[in-house]
Amino acid sequence: MRERRLPFFLVTHLTNIAYLTGFRASAGVALFNSREGIVWVDPRYTLQAQEEARGVEVIEERKGLHKAVAAWLKAHQVRRLGFEGAHLTCADFSLLQKEAGQHVKFLPQTGLVEQLRAVKDEEEVAKIRQAGRITAEVFEKVLEIVRPGVSECDLAAEIEYLMRKKGAEGAAFETIVASGARAALPHARASHKILRQNELVIFDLGAILGNYAADMTRTVYLGQPSQRVRSLYNAVVVAQERAAMSALPGVRAGDVDAVARRSLAKRGLARFFAHGTGHGVGMETHEMPRLARGEKVRLQSGNTVTVEPGVYLKGWGGIRIEDTVHVGPGGPEVLTPAPKDQWIVE
Ligand code: ZN
Ligand code: ZN
Repeated sequence: MRERRLPFFLVTHLTNIAYLTGFRASAGVALFNSREGIVWVDPRYTLQAQEEARGVEVIEERKGLHKAVAAWLKAHQVRRLGFEGAHLTCADFSLLQKEAGQHVKFLPQTGLVEQLRAVKDEEEVAKIRQAGRITAEVFEKVLEIVRPGVSECDLAAEIEYLMRKKGAEGAAFETIVASGARAALPHARASHKILRQNELVIFDLGAILGNYAADMTRTVYLGQPSQRVRSLYNAVVVAQERAAMSALPGVRAGDVDAVARRSLAKRGLARFFAHGTGHGVGMETHEMPRLARGEKVRLQSGNTVTVEPGVYLKGWGGIRIEDTVHVGPGGPEVLTPAPKDQWIVE
């Protein structure tokens, strides 16, 4: 806030409020100066906020949180404040401006809290490690039940059930099970399609635990794969492992992406890799930093990122391998330790 010359900063992204205060809810607004903070909540959350929120004053508000913030700004003669440009609706912004008065300068900010969140401490990494372990264990169970004749939906339901049984709060995102030609869609939703012999199946799953997510993808083949399928699979595994091992402190995020892309290019597959190599993962499944072409930001010790190259061939299918990786001081640590070599299911 000092660097950006912001005497006050209004936080409206609920995940950021949870990160800064420990209070997690479906509604709430927080205001900080360099020393202290206030969280406005509606009566549903008063008790919870008083219990969970650390280092901030909790104010219960019955008549609209943004209105209350505006009144506070007015009463305390605040002249300038930052706000989260990506996390305030147009309607709420208009209301704030109108109620706070014309002399208040609202300065949109991007990524202020997200930059802090991108670097995890040991406690946070431990939670992601735990979520990653559950995710990997669930996938190993899936290997025992995946076979021709079951539907994508059945497998997705089983995955999410197993996550909860193993102690997770649930799935961090909608589980992807995409088989056959549907595996060519990088973000296919699980459908009622029945798995068949001689098909690739992509599983993209992640448990959430203690508010921290893991994100992992494995691909399996039902039956005996052809030489071509084997060589495509191996190419993706090699690209994924090379890129993961290059995720070191000080390396540019775009360079990790380049490692994956170059590795696939050597096999003539770069044009089938249509998305970025990865993204930060933590309290949200997609957060900073982004591992994509040309990203200049340098990785820091404490980042946790996914590395997930894939190849997608329209009408034929796709292969993606993804791990959540902790950029540790001693090198990259894979937090989703499920096998990649048990991909042939007979
Ligand atoms: Zn994923
Ligand atoms: Zn991902």
